[in-house]
Amino acid sequence: VKGNRRKNAMCGIVGYIGNKQAQPILLRALKKLEYRGYDSAGIAVLGKGISIYKETGRVETLERFAPTFSGVIGIGHTRWATHGEPSKVNAHPHVDCTGELAMVHNGVITNYQQLKEELIREGHKFLSETDTEVIPHLIEKYYAGDLETAVAEALTRLKGSYAIAIIAKTENRMIVAKNGSPLVI
Ligand code: GLU
Repeated sequence: VKGNRRKNAMCGIVGYIGNKQAQPILLRALKKLEYRGYDSAGIAVLGKGISIYKETGRVETLERFAPTFSGVIGIGHTRWATHGEPSKVNAHPHVDCTGELAMVHNGVITNYQQLKEELIREGHKFLSETDTEVIPHLIEKYYAGDLETAVAEALTRLKGSYAIAIIAKTENRMIVAKNGSPLVI
């Protein structure tokens, strides 16, 4: 039911940080989230830079076609579209203008339209039709050397529900946050 879908996006996010290769762990975790229903999936792995791969359809397809990315930090997503059709471009992870920051989001940002207009006025370039994409651009806007501070500041601007996981090229860590949507660490 469409109305229902909009309120309770049922996708899932996963993140891994440790000493094992992240990609196989992310893919296994995404398969465990499949029962929640989704229309597309994607992963981002932090190695020398951030490598991203997305597919519409099954996690199995993502697994089959994704190149092998090397790195011990990563994030993954199964999407159930609420804003923007199911497509590769709208699939998560989403990035900021530099591509040095990648994030996944479960939930709905209800004031995204207003934030998007503000960010476009300030010169940010959007690639997708999602509500989610305002988040990496807001983080970029507030970034002044510390990712955690920038995320905290960006979150004060958001209305709606979210569980998010963020990685950045310059940081050897993962930032997570939640409001409304569940998040288990
Ligand atoms: N609202 C976001 C989107 O449409 C996230 C949906 C979800 O939680 O899967 O991309």
